[in-house]
Amino acid sequence: MFGPPGSGKGTQASRVAVQLGVPHVAAGDMLRSEVARGTALGREAKPIMDSGGLVPDDLVVRMIDGRLNEPDARLGVLLDGFPRTVPQAITLDKMLGGRKEMVANVISLEVPEQELKTRILKRATIEGRSDDTAEGLAQRLVVYRQDTAPVLEHYRAEGRRIVAIDGVGDIDAITERIMKSLQHNDAPVGSA
Ligand code: AMP
Repeated sequence: MFGPPGSGKGTQASRVAVQLGVPHVAAGDMLRSEVARGTALGREAKPIMDSGGLVPDDLVVRMIDGRLNEPDARLGVLLDGFPRTVPQAITLDKMLGGRKEMVANVISLEVPEQELKTRILKRATIEGRSDDTAEGLAQRLVVYRQDTAPVLEHYRAEGRRIVAIDGVGDIDAITERIMKSLQHNDAPVGSA
């Protein structure tokens, strides 16, 4: 599940994962859990996350690799917020290749920037995420454009199926759009 901050990645990924019957593996949620538990990774990640930057690739890759080794991930997972840089994508391709697996679909949620800003500032009042500030969002958008958007080009160049979804509108309708687009797919949906 791919998209800018505020595009509804987390919301849609958890719903789509339930419908596909695969675990929802959300890098941001896993990092927030490390922060809440005060682990070494969490202590290193917190100031970076609060400033809207990216946690170093090697730390995030190790965390995701560990998760993919768990038994429930055997038949595929829905990745949310990972890979977020081209080096992460290349490492993921290698990790999956070693298991005879691959990224089967890239779901790209498309939402105009003004709508992202409105949504994030609204989420700030509801969830109280420490990175949901005007500065945090501005920085996350810069990082998204610079480091994360090229991940989509990486998968396009690799010939993977990119499922572009209009991420504006009713939450149920967006989930339905995603599920419909996945069904029109030749590649096996559950393979990554
Ligand atoms: P998210 O919940 O996906 O918006 O992620 C929240 C924050 O966690 C991001 O702004 C980053 O600081 C960090 N983060 C999440 N996923 C990654 C990743 N794949 N690589 C590096 N940092 C990440």
